Amino acid sequence: MELPTYAYFEGEIVPYREAKVSILVHALNYGTAAFGGLRGYWNEGDEQLYLFRAEDHFQRLLNSAKILTMEFDETPADLIHITKELLQKEGYHQDVYIRPLVYKAEEGIGVRLHDIKAELAISALPFARYVANDTDAHVTISSWRRIDDNMIPARGKIAGAYANSAFIKSDAVRSGFDEALVLTSDGHISEGSAENVFLVRDGVLVTPPITENILEGITRRTVLQIADEILGIETRERRVDRTEIYVCDELFLTGTAAQITAVTQVDHRLIGSGKMGPITKRLRETFDDVVRGRVQSYSSWLTIVY
Ligand code: PMP
Repeated sequence: MELPTYAYFEGEIVPYREAKVSILVHALNYGTAAFGGLRGYWNEGDEQLYLFRAEDHFQRLLNSAKILTMEFDETPADLIHITKELLQKEGYHQDVYIRPLVYKAEEGIGVRLHDIKAELAISALPFARYVANDTDAHVTISSWRRIDDNMIPARGKIAGAYANSAFIKSDAVRSGFDEALVLTSDGHISEGSAENVFLVRDGVLVTPPITENILEGITRRTVLQIADEILGIETRERRVDRTEIYVCDELFLTGTAAQITAVTQVDHRLIGSGKMGPITKRLRETFDDVVRGRVQSYSSWLTIVY
């Protein structure tokens, strides 16, 4: 993976190699950090880098910080400003992934959330595909369960909670799958290891509601909106049983990294015909047009970098 040249660290842009923390820093020991992940899409024709829904991503980051009792003076607009400055300095002319991080930065021993100074860091690196097999992914239902809102809030994008995602992902990949879906403690479909999930049944686009211990995905929100407004597809947020996944017509995962990843097999059962379905295909094309600035009516979702 190509690493950045610069990072925003302790209030300024510094060489990436100088953006370092101590081994006793609270967040590293106790997982008391939260992160974001947004993309910048390069548009060759416009010679422009577009950040997708940056305001929403930074608002979610600040909400995560709030859950972890961190206080920052910066607004989402301030964070967009810093990110633009960082990207201009990097000078990327390709798709990028931006990783903002808020973390409990003091060194010492003691598990708690309160009275620990927090810091904010941002870095950005070149990035293309996340799920290698994004048109034909094979997934399994994980034997792990999703963390509950009353354990580690999933809507918080809290670093420590990603140990749960890592168990889910690695066990799936080492068993030969591309990804896994994970169930809530009471056995309903929650989401993927780092993606939300959608299924199509009888022409209706269905996704679990935000009360199913999912991360409130910004791609999820985007797909719900463009399915309704551009493609005129009926959408529904409701609980999903495990075996609905086996009998649905189409299935896909959404996330900033995964974008819209078509799933064609679950636990060795074919989804639909075993090929990417027509609704998934149309959503992927429309999504790509939107994020690269080719749909005028959604241009308010984009931030111009250069
Ligand atoms: N669920 C989890 C657990 C995630 O880590 C992510 C990636 N951020 C998502 C869903 C998708 O969220 P988004 O579309 O905002 O990237």
